[in-house]
Amino acid sequence: MKPVIALVGRPNVGKSTLFNRLTKTRDAIVADFAGLTRDRHYGNGRAGNREYIVIDTGGFEPDAGSGIYSEMAKQTRQAVAEADVVIFVVDARDGLSAQDHDIANELRRLGKPCILVANKAEGMQSSARLVDFYELGFGEVHAVSAAHGQGVRDIVDLALESLNLPDVEEDDFGDDAEAKPIRLAVAGRPNVGKSTLINTWLGEERLVAFDMPGTTRDAITVPFERNGQRFELIDTAGLRRKGRVFEAIEKFSVVKTLQAIESANVVLLLLDATQGVTDQDAHIAGYILESGRAVVIAVNKWDAVDAYQREQVNRQIESRLPFLKFASLNFISAAKRQGLGPVWQAIAQAHKAATRKMSTPVLTRLLQEAVQFQTPKKTGMFRPKLRYAHQGGMNPPVIVIHGNSLEHVTDAYRRFLEGRFRKEFDLVGTPLRIEFKTSH
Ligand code: GDP
Ligand code: GDP
Repeated sequence: MKPVIALVGRPNVGKSTLFNRLTKTRDAIVADFAGLTRDRHYGNGRAGNREYIVIDTGGFEPDAGSGIYSEMAKQTRQAVAEADVVIFVVDARDGLSAQDHDIANELRRLGKPCILVANKAEGMQSSARLVDFYELGFGEVHAVSAAHGQGVRDIVDLALESLNLPDVEEDDFGDDAEAKPIRLAVAGRPNVGKSTLINTWLGEERLVAFDMPGTTRDAITVPFERNGQRFELIDTAGLRRKGRVFEAIEKFSVVKTLQAIESANVVLLLLDATQGVTDQDAHIAGYILESGRAVVIAVNKWDAVDAYQREQVNRQIESRLPFLKFASLNFISAAKRQGLGPVWQAIAQAHKAATRKMSTPVLTRLLQEAVQFQTPKKTGMFRPKLRYAHQGGMNPPVIVIHGNSLEHVTDAYRRFLEGRFRKEFDLVGTPLRIEFKTSH
């Protein structure tokens, strides 16, 4: 499970700026997907080969009476509760404030490990102003400049080191990927039918579930087998095992959803036909895309909607989730056990696509055929020259293309190549990343 870092501090100290720094790595990958809604309060980041989740919080505003502020405080408390470590941000230029003291007290009460960070410290010659912050009682004050990126990497390393995490596992980009169980997460907002579906699955005779205790750091998983294929079902947001069955717990947790998605190989995105595609569905879909995991869409409660509503749902999926076009779309009724077979097939297909091996000679041949079919356009003085391709990763598959002037390859051309590769390798149900490496 990825560790979670929460950013806490009063307004205007630079939390969003720091958040953007901490999550920068992933943005480039999803930038070109139209229609992608993301909740900018949650993001993924990476330091070296260590990945983490960052939450930007609104702050506590502890003394504000009711209304939006107390809601904000509630959300901040939940974020802190779900975090492994808190980065407490103060403003080096403004100096210590009463509000900082209030937040410090609240954080102490919540008892999470905290790293105290004084932002906007660029060009501050003496640390005289920083000394005051020791009063907060969180030990060392770490000076950073989020705007200039100074000291940011150090505090991330510090935050991650403080957690004593086990070493990062090697990527699944090996020969034994197929022999391992498929890690499956069922993601969806409350009430779409996640627990109904899972209990229907696990209740089927031919689907043998084993009991296995989970550790606190790892995702809790339920291993089972279906038609000779081993699976591990990951406990998702709002879903917890109670004895033999899954039960929905009350509070939906974005963090748990993110962690489950991240530790899965394939995510089943469950929608509710009676509700259509909501904002929250689109957010969850955005997280799945961003994670690079394989995905299958299932629209549940198909039994409860008429022809008109069915038409509406189809249209909403097209307009609100255009970035998941590569995923297979299934219409099911978990309660009535309808349409479940094709979902299993889609899951197996998506996993196969996500872990497909593509050899350098075949990729290079395909690339050359594509270029012959349609040469990339010249932009200004440069015509991109695409020379050869090799596979750079799995789940999601990454194809790395080498050549010259590749920074001038247009988005349209990238999509054209993606289409060719997808068709050739039958890449249904998985995102595909294409990277360009220019040699000069
Ligand atoms: P938030 O309300 O805590 O999320 O704060 P923001 O990230 O929105 O930043 C508030 C203001 O501080 C903005 O005008 C930022 O440009 C500015 N700011 C953020 N980080 C730095 C920094 O490192 N140095 C300076 N000088 N300004 C910063
Ligand atoms: P969860 O919060 O996502 O785990 O959702 P639940 O599995 O608890 O289901 C929420 C509600 O939807 C319950 O009242 C279920 O009985 C109902 N439900 C689940 N699946 C179906 C279905 O296929 N058809 C209909 N009509 N209702 C369903």
